[in-house]
Amino acid sequence: MSARARPVVAIDGPAGTGKSTVARRVAAGLGFTLVDTGAIYRCAALAAVRAGLALDDTPRARQALGELAAALRISFRPGPEGQRVFLGPDEVTLELRSPAMSQAASRVSALPEVRAALLALQRGLGQDGGVVLEGRDIGTVVFPDAEVKVFLTASAEVRARRRHAELLARGLQVSLEDTLREQAERDRRDEGRAVAPLKAAADAVVIDTGPLSLDEVVARVLALAREVRR
Ligand code: C5P
Repeated sequence: MSARARPVVAIDGPAGTGKSTVARRVAAGLGFTLVDTGAIYRCAALAAVRAGLALDDTPRARQALGELAAALRISFRPGPEGQRVFLGPDEVTLELRSPAMSQAASRVSALPEVRAALLALQRGLGQDGGVVLEGRDIGTVVFPDAEVKVFLTASAEVRARRRHAELLARGLQVSLEDTLREQAERDRRDEGRAVAPLKAAADAVVIDTGPLSLDEVVARVLALAREVRR
């Protein structure tokens, strides 16, 4: 048993499963802190692009990206529409969400040097419990001892449609076809990487969100979390 007074809730899964919304609502329902680890990888990607670093898988690029990731100053603050993200003093909330940054994050996150640098940061944020972490490898690598582990899934088609609607709502003019193609590329990279690939932990509860409403998914995760708190 861990020595934490309050549980760590790990919510993993690919993009388009409703993961971010579910994590936000579960954290609010439990009165826990939310940690969006995708935003942390997106910050690393944005900082790398701003610094003009190549996102390559060469020893030199990997070392430079790892050093940059280790020196990142990321902070989260509550906002009217979820969390606001800051890189140093700059707010980067909107910039992080572009399709270009999704791809860049997926590329830098495949590098072991970057993952190692960001692992300590994520563990530090969750070590005291009372936290919901959403990501790809929370239940497998970051907190393998998490008290609650959930892995959200849905078919590629369902996920791409959701993501497409989300991008349109944000005013980004992209086609469903492009969204599907970019999603497939990102899935392939996230699932195929050597370090911490996207996969459900053996002891995670897998929830197919395709046939469920958001409310139903949130209710299931809250029920699991309340179970361990009793
Ligand atoms: O969740 P989000 O779409 O913001 O994540 C962006 C990218 O960051 C993912 O495609 C994945 O490559 C990477 N990521 C990761 N491990 C995490 C969270 C995100 O590799 N725990």
